[in-house]
Amino acid sequence: SIHERTTLNNGVKMPWLGLGVYKAEDGREVINTIKEAVSAGYRSIDTAAIYENEEGVGEAIRQVNVPREELFITTKVWNDRHGYDEAIKAFEESREKLGVDVIDLYLIHWPVTGKFTETWKALEHLYKEGRVRAIGVSNFNIHHLETLLEEAEIVPAVNQMEYHPLLALPELHAFCKEKGIQLEAWSPLTRGRIFDDPIIRSIAEKHGKSPAQIILRWDLQNEVVTIPKSVTPSRIRENAAIFDFELDQEDMDKINSMNKNHRFSGDPDTFA
Ligand code: NAD
Repeated sequence: SIHERTTLNNGVKMPWLGLGVYKAEDGREVINTIKEAVSAGYRSIDTAAIYENEEGVGEAIRQVNVPREELFITTKVWNDRHGYDEAIKAFEESREKLGVDVIDLYLIHWPVTGKFTETWKALEHLYKEGRVRAIGVSNFNIHHLETLLEEAEIVPAVNQMEYHPLLALPELHAFCKEKGIQLEAWSPLTRGRIFDDPIIRSIAEKHGKSPAQIILRWDLQNEVVTIPKSVTPSRIRENAAIFDFELDQEDMDKINSMNKNHRFSGDPDTFA
C-alpha cells in the first residue's frame, strides 16, 4: 500500500513514495498541494532550502490531520551554505522555517568540490544531537561517495539522484546497495518528457495504467524511493495509485533496456 516504507541503514522507516515540491509556490499553492497529497495517502514531502517554500511546507504539516511522527520531511542544504558552521546555521534556518523540532532527513543537495566532507561532519553532529532522524546526500556519483566514505563516521542513509528509464544508473545503484545507501529518484517522470515513448505507452495500455504510473511502479520494483512532483489534484492521486498492480519481468526488462545514461538536468560532476 501507499504506506509501505523502506528501512534506512539506521532503522528509520522512509515511505517509498513521496511528494516533490520543487517549484510549488510558497504559501497557498504548496499548502493546498500538500493537503491534497496527504488526503491521498502521501506521508513524505521533499523540499529544499533553495525551493523557498519551507514555510509553506511547515504550515501545511501543521494543518493536516496527521500526527507529526507519521510524516516524513526531507530538506537539503544548498551549495552556498557548505562548511561546518554554515551548514549548521542553514539547518537551523530550515528547521525554523518548517517549524519542526526534528527534521526526518537532511541532505547535502550537491557535492560542492572540496567542501562536502566538512559539511558532512556538520550533518553527523546534527544527527548525533538528535536534531535530524537521518542524514544523506544528493547528486553524489560513486567517486563522490568514495571520497565521503573515506572520512565519514556515518554512512549516508540516502542518495537522491536524477533517475528515470533513460538514466537508470546501474553501477551507482549497485554501489549504493553494497554500502547500505537507499537510492531515491528525483525527476522520476523526466518532467513529462517520455510519456509518449512507445515502450512506456505499450506497457501502460497492457495494464490499463497511465505512463506516469508505469514509470513510478518501475521505481518501486527497482527498490528506488520516488518523489514525483505535481500540484494538480488528479495527478497527485494518479501518481499514488501504483500499489495495486505489478509489472512482470518482461515489462521490467523492456523499461530497463531504455537506459542510455541520458540526463536532462544538472550533472553532478560539473554542476556545483
Ligand atoms: P518530475 O519528474 O516529478 O515531473 C514533474 C512534472 O511532471 C510536473 O510538474 C508535471 O508537469 C508533470 N506530471 C507529474 N505527474 C504527472 C502525471 N501524472 N501526468 C502527467 N504529467 C505529470 O520532476 P521534478 O519536479 O524535477 O522532480 C520531482 C522532485 O524531485 C522535485 O519536486 C524535487 O522535490 C526533487 N528534485 C530534487 C533535485 C535534487 O537536486 N536533489 C532536483 C530536481 C528535483
